[in-house]
Formats: sequence, C-alpha cells, structure tokens
Amino acid sequence: MRTIPLNADSAMETTDGAAMPAARKRVFWLFFVIVLMHLLLPLAFLPYTFAWWGIAVVLIGNFIFGSIGINLGYHRMLTHSAAKFPTLLERLWVLLGVCSMEGSPLFWVCTHRIHHQHSDGRDDPHSPRWSFFWGHLEWIYTEDPRRQSLEAYSRYVPDLLGDKFLRWLHRGNKWLVVWACHVVALAAVGYLAGFLLCGDSADAIQFGTRWLLWSVVVRTVYVWHITWLVNSAAHRWGYRNYKTGDNSTNNWFVALLTNGEGWHNNHHATPRACSQGHRWWEIDLTYTFVRLLQCVGLAWDVAPVKVPAHIREKRDLGKPDLTEVVAQDTA
Ligand SMILES: [Zn+2]
Ligand SMILES: [Zn+2]
Repeated sequence: MRTIPLNADSAMETTDGAAMPAARKRVFWLFFVIVLMHLLLPLAFLPYTFAWWGIAVVLIGNFIFGSIGINLGYHRMLTHSAAKFPTLLERLWVLLGVCSMEGSPLFWVCTHRIHHQHSDGRDDPHSPRWSFFWGHLEWIYTEDPRRQSLEAYSRYVPDLLGDKFLRWLHRGNKWLVVWACHVVALAAVGYLAGFLLCGDSADAIQFGTRWLLWSVVVRTVYVWHITWLVNSAAHRWGYRNYKTGDNSTNNWFVALLTNGEGWHNNHHATPRACSQGHRWWEIDLTYTFVRLLQCVGLAWDVAPVKVPAHIREKRDLGKPDLTEVVAQDTA
C-alpha cells in the first residue's frame, strides 16, 4: 500500500511521482463564462434588483436544477444507474442538469467515473490533494486530454454512447443552446409575470430583471459552488463512516446545501446506492424525492445501500488523516 503526502498544496508532484495534468492549458471560453457569471452576481444585490424572495427562488431553483438535474439526473441516474424512471422523466432530469451549466451529460459522467476509479489518486481529475482551489474550480477550465479523447468516452461511458439524445446534446456543444433557451424562457416568464402583476411598466421591468438575475445568475453560481464543494470540501473536511481508500468525507454543511450529496464518504463506500445518507440523521432530500416517486410508481430499480464488508466500520472513524492518502491508482 503506497501513501502520498498531502501537505504540499502547491506542489506539482508528489513523492511517488504523481503529477497534475502536465499540459495546464486553459479552456478560455469556460474561464470567461465562470468569471462573467461571478461579475454579474453583485448586480443582484443592488437596491433596484435585490428582493428577499430572490433567496427562495435560488433555493427552489437549486432543488429543481441542482438536486433533480445534477444530483439525481447526471450523478445518481446517469453515472451510477441508481434508479430508473419513465423515459420522459429521465429526459427531463437530464435537461434540468443541462440548465445548471456543468457541461454535457456525457462529459460530466465521464469525468465523474474517472474520479471514482482514481479517487484522490494520480489520475483523479479534481482531487483537492493538489490544492483546494484546484479541486474546487481550477480543474474545470484546465484542459485535460484524458477526458477529451474518443477513447476516454468509449472506455468510461460506453453504456451512454448509444443514447441518441445524450449524443445530440454533446455534439457541437448543443447543450449550451439548450441552456441559452432556458435563460430566454425564464426571462420571458419573469417579464410576463411582471406585466401581469405590477401596476405600471417600470415596476414590471424591475420585477422581470430581479427574477432574471436571481433565477439564472445567482442560482447558477450557487449551484456551481455547492456542487464544486462536494469535490473540494467533501474530500478534505468532515467525518468518515467507512474506510474508503481515498479522502472522501461526510460533510454536513455540504450535505445540507446540496440536499444530500455531501455524505460523500458514504457515496464512495457504495457508489451505486441511491441513498447517500446512511444514518438516520444523514438527511438526503434527493433520495427522499426518489422515494416519493417510487411510492407513486414513477421510480423503480432503486439501488440499495450495499457496503463491502472490508470497508464497513461500526464506529465513527472521525476526521480523515490529511497527512496522507492511500493511492488508488490502478495504473
Ligand atoms: Zn469524490
Ligand atoms: Zn459518484
């Protein structure tokens, strides 16, 4: 069993020769989009645009686009086949994920499956072992040839490549067109509601602008960061129920924000399981949503929690040892 020091955040290379992707070329359009959205964010907090109801819009938007779209659609359903739904609902979950602007479903699933195979090892696409910033955000706008080749897609997402809908979204970045359409649709809803609810056109325009900023800009940035926290914070801080060979943790703060994805040590212990909360108090609202659908016959084949005996522990393992991590490289 090899161990890799975790104490040199800025190091490009660890003692076993593991290294960050050598070609650190930036993907400028992604960098530009991320910066632009963050620059637009303060506009939502001006007296003209701020509204307390905006916070409710963000939280509800997070459940719809983040929890159902990313957690359930992209992650548990597509990546891990944790449950099945009627085709129409499966398509809807994917489209909601697309509207979170985290890449095409094929790209997202490919990246995440590589993460599971090499978690916190040399070939993990986004281990925070290098630095919190790398695991949280920097890896997204850094070119990684491992995830761009046809070979990688054939190897990691062969089961999804036969899906015409997913291929259509991926080819030519058409998922971005879908994302743009949802922005136009939300803008239309906001301004139309403004004209229906407000007395004069000035108030209507103000209402529509507020709606657009909070339902798109603030919600998108919020969902981005809480998703990214699963990769960064939930591989650094928290407690561990299981002796997984990585640094994954159960982080209650991230779990609360993401409606369940923060029980990440549980997830690494049993990736296929639909439920990520394994103790009674590890609340997982994304799973609750699946259970509700199951009750009315709209979800089936819900994968149970099955933890391999060798990593099961009866006691709380406490915090991860951040001085070292077991390399999971299969290479
Ligand atoms: Zn992980
Ligand atoms: Zn996963």
